[in-house]
Amino acid sequence: MKTLSSDIIKKIVDVAGKNNVLFTKEEKIPYKNDASYIQGLLPELVIMPENADQIASVLKICSSNGVNVTVRSGGTALTGSSVLQYPGILINTMKMDKILDLNLSSRYVVCQPGVRLDKLNEYLKKYNFFYPPDPASSRASTVGGSISTNAGGLRAVKYGATKEWVLGAEFVTGNGNIITTGEYTLKRSAGYDITALLIGSEGTLGVLTKAILKIEPLPEESGRILSFFRDISEVGMAISDVKNAGITPLIAEFMDLQTVDSIRDRMNIDIPEYTQFLLMIDIDSTKKSLNDKMIQAEEIIKKYSSDIIVITDKGKMDEIYNARKGAYSSLLKQRENDKQIVIIGDLIVPASELPDTMKEIRRKIDEHKIKATLFGHIGDGNIHANIFAENTVDGMKIVDELQMEIARIAISHRGCVSAEHGIGTEKNILLYEEYRKKNSLYTLELMKNIKNVFDPENIMNRGKIFYEKQD
Ligand SMILES: Cc1cc2nc3c(=O)[nH]c(=O)nc-3n(C[C@H](O)[C@H](O)[C@H](O)COP(=O)(O)OP(=O)(O)OC[C@H]3O[C@@H](n4cnc5c(N)ncnc54)[C@H](O)[C@@H]3O)c2cc1C
Repeated sequence: MKTLSSDIIKKIVDVAGKNNVLFTKEEKIPYKNDASYIQGLLPELVIMPENADQIASVLKICSSNGVNVTVRSGGTALTGSSVLQYPGILINTMKMDKILDLNLSSRYVVCQPGVRLDKLNEYLKKYNFFYPPDPASSRASTVGGSISTNAGGLRAVKYGATKEWVLGAEFVTGNGNIITTGEYTLKRSAGYDITALLIGSEGTLGVLTKAILKIEPLPEESGRILSFFRDISEVGMAISDVKNAGITPLIAEFMDLQTVDSIRDRMNIDIPEYTQFLLMIDIDSTKKSLNDKMIQAEEIIKKYSSDIIVITDKGKMDEIYNARKGAYSSLLKQRENDKQIVIIGDLIVPASELPDTMKEIRRKIDEHKIKATLFGHIGDGNIHANIFAENTVDGMKIVDELQMEIARIAISHRGCVSAEHGIGTEKNILLYEEYRKKNSLYTLELMKNIKNVFDPENIMNRGKIFYEKQD
């Protein structure tokens, strides 16, 4: 469906610059998909702006003419959040890919939204520093997209999600106002925290054009413990006991056998035959105390697992880390036919609730007799329950039911329906259910009111986060 008159197209092209606009179907087709199974509409135009002024001018035209706008950077979203649900244009911030400033003593780096996370960390490594948020998609995902989804990733167990690392931002609101929020300082107490509001807003409020990010010195030393389990609740108990002992791992990942199988070749380690679950824990410390900490963690895990592999060789650690980061892509290869899709779940519960939650989820999946795998960032309570299903009306009905039942398990354990991927269009019913169960639907109303302040014409990323009946 076309919504743009030639007059509006001309106005948008004039302010964005002809060289920054994609017009042809061939050029625009890649924007119909993100990394999820959800397909979006073909954008009428794809704008690739070079600066915030161009974005502000485009958004002023769009908001005064009711043109819907979807924002996108790396396009690795797993929830349909970076594709169009309503006809309109797409703004892709990938041309804005510069690192603008670095200050080691004040501990910040300033970036444009299109900087990919691995590129940022390659740059920071030269100074012995790093930016901790590390989603498994870090090679392709960006500063803009990861802030807008409040991405977590492997190191969140120790460093928290993206929200802990954003000090300030430059942002263009849905009606085209350029605002700056936050500071270059590690703390501030000056009114409402608008920066925090932008994190996880999934492009529904406007476009992020610059971010001031906190950075950390690289850990001095780290080592890895791999352990193998028959029973899912033992994995939960092992990680809980490690944390109860006062050890905060740098990463704590778990995988079920199907996930392990999908990356077995790339890990290249001996896996005991009885293995149903693998736990991978990294401990970081000073060179002097690493060994003691590793032994302490090993002793705890031994209560639940009879086979433990300790790895300190950096090359081998990188090989296994990269294999784990490729787990989702490798799972796609386990589809039984072309029609099958993999729907990635993303719930989180407090770490202490993990053993019971994991058992209940596995039982629920088995009841449905549906192929599903479990892996996740178990150290912070984040479990990805990944469902294999036919992309048909009947197939998706089963998926929706199972997702809702799994979501209710998480909510009943004081958890949440999305830990790090965001809501997109995929989980907006689950989000509604979460607030309904918490008896706090008014929170969703407040969120909508906030959106209305930033985006009074409701043009930004419509249909994402909040369920909207299609008109
Ligand atoms: C293989 C794989 C593994 C993954 N592993 C993890 C993981 O471990 N942890 C994790 O948290 N996530 C993970 N993800 C999900 C995804 O990579 C993250 O959500 C990522 O941070 C999104 O970044 P992006 O640049 O690709 O964003 P996009 O997909 O382009 O966009 C994501 C959202 O941000 C909005 N957005 C993008 N740019 C802007 C901007 N400049 N201004 C305003 N809004 C904007 C979009 O509208 C959309 O709502 C994984 C994805 C894949 C494919």
